[in-house]
Amino acid sequence: MATDEKHVLVIGGGIAGIQASLDLANRGFAVHLVERSPTIGGRMAQLDKTFPTMDCSICILSPKMIECARHPRIKLHTYSEVIGLKGSVGDFHVKVLKKPRYVSEEKCVGCGECTEKCPVKVPSEFDMGLGMRKAIYMPFLQSVPRLATIDAEHCLYFTKNVCKVCEKFCVPKAIDYDQKPQEIDLDVGAIVVATGFDLFDASIIPSLGYKKYKNVINGLELERLLCASGPTRGELVRPSDGKHPKSVAFIQCVGARDKRFGYPYCSSICCKYAVKNAALIKQHNPDNEVSIFYTDLRVFGKGFQEFANRSKSEYGVKYIQSNPGEIREKPDTGNLQVWFEDTTTGKVQSHEFGLVVLSTALVASKENEELAKVLGIELDPYRFILSKNAVTDIFDTTVEGIYACGYCIGPKSGDVPDSVMQGSAAAVRVAEVLMSSEGGS
Ligand SMILES: Cc1cc2nc3c(=O)[nH]c(=O)nc-3n(C[C@H](O)[C@H](O)[C@H](O)COP(=O)(O)OP(=O)(O)OC[C@H]3O[C@@H](n4cnc5c(N)ncnc54)[C@H](O)[C@@H]3O)c2cc1C
Repeated sequence: MATDEKHVLVIGGGIAGIQASLDLANRGFAVHLVERSPTIGGRMAQLDKTFPTMDCSICILSPKMIECARHPRIKLHTYSEVIGLKGSVGDFHVKVLKKPRYVSEEKCVGCGECTEKCPVKVPSEFDMGLGMRKAIYMPFLQSVPRLATIDAEHCLYFTKNVCKVCEKFCVPKAIDYDQKPQEIDLDVGAIVVATGFDLFDASIIPSLGYKKYKNVINGLELERLLCASGPTRGELVRPSDGKHPKSVAFIQCVGARDKRFGYPYCSSICCKYAVKNAALIKQHNPDNEVSIFYTDLRVFGKGFQEFANRSKSEYGVKYIQSNPGEIREKPDTGNLQVWFEDTTTGKVQSHEFGLVVLSTALVASKENEELAKVLGIELDPYRFILSKNAVTDIFDTTVEGIYACGYCIGPKSGDVPDSVMQGSAAAVRVAEVLMSSEGGS
């Protein structure tokens, strides 16, 4: 990166942060992209197909991830977090903490030999615990950067002072057990926050059986099961017994639009992804019975209502306007009895399914509170980043020179095209402010 360029910090390497980084770099700004996990990509990397085009998600995301890594004006700081900030617009001083990977970034070639030989298996966060990864790992095949990371919590060398198999098999000699956390100082003129979302933990509602019954899963877990590169190679099978479910129920608004759990808002994308996945399941196997238990179907956007209608008329997806109350497992089969009130008739009924998918609320990233303290920005009552003005200055935070985009500002429309648009919009705000300011970092 040239020193005469104006520098910008982007926090969060999901699709919104990636888009903001690329737009800024292509306009001539030097970008520091800080991502807390070992790879950029965010949630979009976990999806199987993306509405509205039904493209393979990673196939359209991966070229952007690679472009980011190869861009001469983008510096990736993965496995890193922002821990300090001083200064003001045009002249921010940022402190970044780089966590140790225990693998040299200069030497690792991402061959995967270490991962293959590592004897320790732990549940994969990327596969939502439905598959396993090793203690030295890359989160997924297309991870960017292509670097191994040692998970010291599970590594036998760090926990029991034995093993070192990865070191033995690493041809480029990249393993470095002595690596320490590193503090990096950056001077930037502006900051873009793009920290995305987390999922509501449905086990808070015991009557729905999440985490109690293996065949009750959430939407992201279903994405991993449907994905050809996922833990079941795209076979839709039940976590309890590996059998193909003959019937699947989607339960909408779990934790969302519900004051009891503190998330009274609509997450805005769950109806769309439930319709998408219901149609996909029917395409895979037309004999499957698929039902969507919904409050009221919110599938706004070009072509979505038509898609939902087609899923009904062409694929036979059933839509039941209802209020599901309880899910009970049948211990002999692992099937699930869904009890619900049909809100069109007021009658309480039940129906048996082989698999239940909970469309859980999308909530603000857990770390937003800490990050907001560091940056001095304000959050809304649901811990999303507060816009300076929700109508006229949507991408401006309450601190001049700090902008936000993507799902971290809350459910606007919340999908990928919207996040891309917002990433570009935040980049324009940065450019406006830095181009008009004298000098700056
Ligand atoms: C089940 C499901 C299915 C979906 N299907 C579709 C679909 O088919 N089509 C579609 O258009 N949309 C879909 N979506 C929505 C899509 O996932 C979001 O629109 C998109 O991921 C939002 O991107 P983002 O960059 O704002 O956030 P994210 O993808 O959440 O990325 C945020 C990034 O920031 C990082 N981060 C968080 N906190 C910090 C921090 N403090 N410091 C550094 N880094 C941090 C995270 O690790 C992550 O990499 C779906 C969502 C779900 C849950």
